Amino acid sequence: MSKKVIDLLNGARSRELTAITQYMAQHYELEDQDFAKLASKLKEIGIQEMKHAEKLAERILFLQGEPTSKPDGVAKKGQKIPEMLTTNIGLEAQAIKMYNDASVVCAAEKDQISKEVFEELLKDEEEHLNYFENEKTHIEKLGAAYLAILIGK
Ligand code: FE
Ligand code: FE
Repeated sequence: MSKKVIDLLNGARSRELTAITQYMAQHYELEDQDFAKLASKLKEIGIQEMKHAEKLAERILFLQGEPTSKPDGVAKKGQKIPEMLTTNIGLEAQAIKMYNDASVVCAAEKDQISKEVFEELLKDEEEHLNYFENEKTHIEKLGAAYLAILIGK
């Protein structure tokens, strides 16, 4: 099996590990600031990223590689909500680019199953990106009125 594909799966796993720590950190901060609605959404997305990291590890192990446990970035702390959303939009947009590129390499390496793993992840990442972008737009347009909505459960 291709080392190239294993490296791509591990690159993706590192990206997922960064997203997990970032979204969990935001989840705790938002919870602490009583933005319960946004906090629970960050928790939900964070758990989806954990499942992505697991799925990648399973595929890496099947290909007899070693799943990395190193994130490719450090979680930012103490950001305001619009900055958090900008951070997350960056993480998701980069992941989407990485996974699209990776799926092309998987096809070239004739590894259809790894390609499908990337495609499955892409569906979720596009939804995450869309969610973060929408929230950012709402805040830009409505400001404090929209922030108040994010306090609710
Ligand atoms: Fe993910
Ligand atoms: Fe994501």
